[in-house]
Amino acid sequence: MSKVVTRYAPSPTGFQHIGGIRTALFAYLYAQKEGGDFILRIEDTDKSREVAGAIEHTKEALHWLGIEWKYGPDKPGPWTHTSCLQSDRLDLYKEYAQILIDKGLAYADPYTKEELEVFREKAKAEKRPFLFRKHRPETVETWDGTKPLRFKVPEIKRYHWEDAVRGKLEAGEEMLDDIIIIKADGYPTYNFAHIVDDKEMGVTHIMRGEEFIASTPKFLSLYDALDIPYPVFVTMPPIMAADGKKKLGKRDGAKDILEYKTDGYLPEAMVNFLALIGWNPGTDQEIFSMTELIEAFTVDKIQKSGGAFNEEKLRWMNKEYLQTVELASFATYITNALPASITSLPNYSEEVVLRLTPTIRERVHNANEINEAAQAGEYDFAFITPTVPTELIKWKKDEHAKDALPRLIKAAELLQDADFTAPETIKTALWEYAEEVGKGDLLWPLRVSITGMERSPDPFMCAFIIGKEETILRINSAIKTLGAD
Ligand code: GLU
Repeated sequence: MSKVVTRYAPSPTGFQHIGGIRTALFAYLYAQKEGGDFILRIEDTDKSREVAGAIEHTKEALHWLGIEWKYGPDKPGPWTHTSCLQSDRLDLYKEYAQILIDKGLAYADPYTKEELEVFREKAKAEKRPFLFRKHRPETVETWDGTKPLRFKVPEIKRYHWEDAVRGKLEAGEEMLDDIIIIKADGYPTYNFAHIVDDKEMGVTHIMRGEEFIASTPKFLSLYDALDIPYPVFVTMPPIMAADGKKKLGKRDGAKDILEYKTDGYLPEAMVNFLALIGWNPGTDQEIFSMTELIEAFTVDKIQKSGGAFNEEKLRWMNKEYLQTVELASFATYITNALPASITSLPNYSEEVVLRLTPTIRERVHNANEINEAAQAGEYDFAFITPTVPTELIKWKKDEHAKDALPRLIKAAELLQDADFTAPETIKTALWEYAEEVGKGDLLWPLRVSITGMERSPDPFMCAFIIGKEETILRINSAIKTLGAD
């Protein structure tokens, strides 16, 4: 069997989104699994729709996710026409067009836009589909490149083909027509160029969306006319909204994949999440590294029906992956997510961020949530000495806030000798006393004195985050406030 070659072939008409990247991932996984090659081909034949920076963006998105190409816009292939940019391969399409011309299977389209419009209108009025082949010119001029070149579909028949995911597919004559293969501007159409390139690049498996099924008979008639064997068609399942009922809407579906990077999603989580949209391993396993995905990936486990895009699941998965990030890297992740209003504080230090790490890791799913919590003031206590309102120190069972004074004095005393290396060691220093006086009676005033907040992590964690000196300072300050009352 020949070597497996797959490709991802985006047109540089915008940024990459979930759908495209999922296709790229499946094509990559399959090539890796089979010891084959994965190609990144840029289909830049529609110059009017090209968006500046789109190629760089595609490369960045794939790099981010670890989807690496053997040949691509920056890595020429071993073929006669080495470039992976279609705009560099125009001679090649002309060579293949010449084969069709020589066989009498391509002709210059003599009609003006207006004339074609008249044909279209007429078909519409007669309620039948417009087919160019019904208007083939009687005499054919030699094609000089100034007019579109059309393929003369030689056999009008019903086509049957096999799709590795959808099984047997078929379509009738109405799907066959004399399609344009080279436009008047000299560029080939997608319909033609991808067939030529897949052949030249040795592509064995085509992964792409279901929107191409309807055009497949046209492609097949071209393969036949050029004596090119059919590759394996692997139709991707559509991506559905979270409820699985309708296709993913514009808002999520059109989101730039790199926005997820900005929002603090880890590439490993994204890859894992994307792989499970429309593919399943046939087991309950949900967490997969790229290596495990390559190992487990098979085309027969790609679903026919749509796969749901559930952003909640992505958040969950990202949190799972965040648990595995090494402490120092996670501290950097936090630092990058914190707003300047925090990082510019005089008490801000990397050491404190490092101590904040476990409590943040326990709660958040992505960097956005860290930023939001920081904006909401949740981490302020770590970096700013709070002003503590006396009323807040008052424990519900106490008559006056002042009643907590002896407990706070004792806590400060116990903490003088406490070991602050972990929240647990701080707890050990206070626990016996807390049990003696009543847990809430000690822990509430203590926590409020340290944080100035009604809600926060437990007092041992808070004390650990701000350190011994600052903890005792804050308790003493509360003692002073209460004493002065
Ligand atoms: N350039 C086409 C697109 O972006 C690629 C389709 C294909 O993979 O054949 O839709």
